[in-house]
Amino acid sequence: MKRILASVLLAAAVPAHAETLHQRTLTLDTHLDTPMHFARQGWSFGDKHSYDTDLVQVDLGRMDEGDLDGGFFVIYTEQGPVTPEGFAKAKAFALGRADLIRTTLAKFPDRIALISTAADAKRMDAAGKRFGWLSIENSYPIGEDLSLLKTFYDLGVRLAGPVHSKNNQFADSATDTPQWNGLSPLGRQWVAEMNRLGIVIDGSHSSDAAFDQMLALSKTPLILSHSGSKTISDQPRNLDDARIRKLAEAGGVICVTTVFLATMNFTPERNALFAQLEHIGTMTPEEQAKLTRETRALDAVMPIQNTDFEAFMKSLLHIIKVAGVDHVGIGADWDGGGGVKGLEDIGGLPKVTERLRAEGFSDADIEKIWSGNVLRVLRLAEENAARR
Ligand SMILES: [Zn+2]
Repeated sequence: MKRILASVLLAAAVPAHAETLHQRTLTLDTHLDTPMHFARQGWSFGDKHSYDTDLVQVDLGRMDEGDLDGGFFVIYTEQGPVTPEGFAKAKAFALGRADLIRTTLAKFPDRIALISTAADAKRMDAAGKRFGWLSIENSYPIGEDLSLLKTFYDLGVRLAGPVHSKNNQFADSATDTPQWNGLSPLGRQWVAEMNRLGIVIDGSHSSDAAFDQMLALSKTPLILSHSGSKTISDQPRNLDDARIRKLAEAGGVICVTTVFLATMNFTPERNALFAQLEHIGTMTPEEQAKLTRETRALDAVMPIQNTDFEAFMKSLLHIIKVAGVDHVGIGADWDGGGGVKGLEDIGGLPKVTERLRAEGFSDADIEKIWSGNVLRVLRLAEENAARR
């Protein structure tokens, strides 16, 4: 008790500027794939897990350690058959995932809150609490009933992308062969409904043509929640510099990812482990431990990518140069294949801030990169929806 009192007094006596720049900065990540872990037996989002003995890269313990204030928790749905049966199954899955995210965050009301606006993020940060929105990776579960977008909006979704790694009813994927040459007719209606509701369009995973069409059609700027640069690594998931400039000219934000910095080693062994990972929520603690051991053993001999923190920073700095400091954010793809040597989990995030400072960016610019730019786009989407 006495010790607590002493530490409170001590904390009060320390001037605010004694906090590091990273601690003072409002930080968010636009693509947290962590929810797949939320249903695990014998595992809690509230604890601090270690990279070596647990597969997860984001938990509340490490949000404290790495001072990640919040972000978008992803409802990811694997692409299945584009049929009424496929849609029904995907819808049930996605609604279940939304519920899992909401109930998990609700378990820690003193530490984190589900929020719905840009202003909420500022408010939570001022109150010393972490925060999360919901986002959708792959709108496949919407089926052909666009009114479902309102259901997801009401559950807290404020960012959504049309596709994942395969084409669907809305758009072509960056990693599939063109079927619609961009958006489908339904995909164009999807854009209008997203704008009407005030859900920001996420262009990550969309084909270049789908990206161009969404950029032209959307009444509010786009966010790329986890994307990179073709100049850094020429892969379909990354954008060429001309498109990054077009996104910026339209007021959008590219949130830089740690994946696709180099050739991705999606070997049969890796894919088999990923397939198991999707079902980690139904594994026993022993099975989870076995999967972790096997994954870390493969990481040691054949990492997903042979890249490091410097490669990530090189990509981030290149994209800042191309897009401008007002149009860049951070979306590392944590728990979705992200992380590089030297930045294995969110515990290492202060290094990013330190490095940006060393590169000569001002405190204000660093705040824009970490959250200000994304919050600006969210605010625009809210205002645009309110005007209708
Ligand atoms: Zn992704």
